[in-house]
Amino acid sequence: MKISLDKLNRREIDKLDLNFSQKIDTINYCEENYKLISPLNLNGKISNTNKGLYLNADVDFTILDHCARCLENVEVSIEYSIQGFLVKEEDFDEDSFEDYDAFIYDNQEINLVKVIEQTIGFNMPLSILCKEECKGLCQDCGANLNKEECSCSEIANDEEIIDPRFAKLKDIFKND
Ligand SMILES: [Zn+2]
Ligand SMILES: [Zn+2]
Repeated sequence: MKISLDKLNRREIDKLDLNFSQKIDTINYCEENYKLISPLNLNGKISNTNKGLYLNADVDFTILDHCARCLENVEVSIEYSIQGFLVKEEDFDEDSFEDYDAFIYDNQEINLVKVIEQTIGFNMPLSILCKEECKGLCQDCGANLNKEECSCSEIANDEEIIDPRFAKLKDIFKND
């Protein structure tokens, strides 16, 4: 998804329409590679404005992530809009772009996958769960409690710590 900005920069064209549906294996976010299980769809345009090149696009795709509780795979659909200026590294200064998002490019081309990797973080669901009522994993034996019941909690109840002074009492009642 590398787009040449040459014609825009030479003002041969005012805008460039972007309409992609591309198969991409993984997307990197927070040093982790997420597998894409749908094509990456991107629709929008890059326009020549008096402040520079401006990208306005909608993206959607589905990644594979893990349930925060039980660690099973979860398909996560992601859909959002990207807006921001495309700026050559040497032209970038924080002051003129402080009110806008800016994406840096070099060699007259912008890599839209990189732009998505820079913006995906703000658009990921805060907590990813396989289902709202996911029971998670047993903290003792690691069993997936959605699929099986382990006996850890029963054992824990049986071995409830009893103050030794009361243990004697308990024995007395037992013999009663
Ligand atoms: Zn789960
Ligand atoms: Zn358990």
